[in-house]
Amino acid sequence: MNKIIEEARKESRTLLSEIESKQLLKEVGINTTEIKLAASEEEASDISQKMGYPVVLKIASPDISHKSDAGGVKVGLKDEEDVVKAYKEIMASVKQKFPGAKIEGVSVQNMAKPGTEVIIGMTKDAQFGPVLMFGLGGVWVEVLKDVSFRIVPLTRRDAQEMIKEIKGYRLLEGYRGSEPVNITVLEDMLLKISDFMEKTPEIKEMDINPVFAYKDGAIAVDARVVLEESVSR
Ligand code: ADP
Ligand code: MG
Repeated sequence: MNKIIEEARKESRTLLSEIESKQLLKEVGINTTEIKLAASEEEASDISQKMGYPVVLKIASPDISHKSDAGGVKVGLKDEEDVVKAYKEIMASVKQKFPGAKIEGVSVQNMAKPGTEVIIGMTKDAQFGPVLMFGLGGVWVEVLKDVSFRIVPLTRRDAQEMIKEIKGYRLLEGYRGSEPVNITVLEDMLLKISDFMEKTPEIKEMDINPVFAYKDGAIAVDARVVLEESVSR
């Protein structure tokens, strides 16, 4: 069994942290932001210094899955002063909104350059088993529910079709000054996840929201993995 999954299992946890989730993605060959846990202001400053500015700070808590709703995400931090201030603000906001939450600290990550936001998800259907979802991020998914689905395992053809069939596809091709993104890289991501899901029945759900897509690549900016309670192989 995968080390990260095994570790969570030992602790009877089904929710992987953002750090663990990104580590899993990295192992699968998916590009993610650098990410490290900081348990104090000082540690957050040290890590930021080493990582290089600008950085992003996010609340690290097993009890908080919608980090920005909790005031737990600060982006574009350009120096130590910004980091210390962001750390304090995140803690104050989270303690007020989720007084009972267990807090591990913050994750420090490099700030990804802006791109076209897409999402990739995996859920399990009672009948079909693992199913992958693809869509554009932001309002496209929240308001317009503009997403497509395919059953695992995906073929290259499936990956191509599921990207092409969303209504917002033209945005990915480049629309009114927005840069076209590399579609093949997104297909590769879908195929890598499909492959991983086939081999890893312990995973119940996965959310990569958002992925920033660029003309020359793509990067997972947020990730969340939920494990099954138990698996019979
Ligand atoms: P939430 O738990 O609220 O979904 P996210 O980790 O997705 O939190 O962060 C919220 C938003 O902040 C993202 O949609 C993205 O636009 C921005 N963001 C988060 N992390 C980064 C990063 N490392 N680089 C650039 N932007 C980021
Ligand atoms: Mg997110």
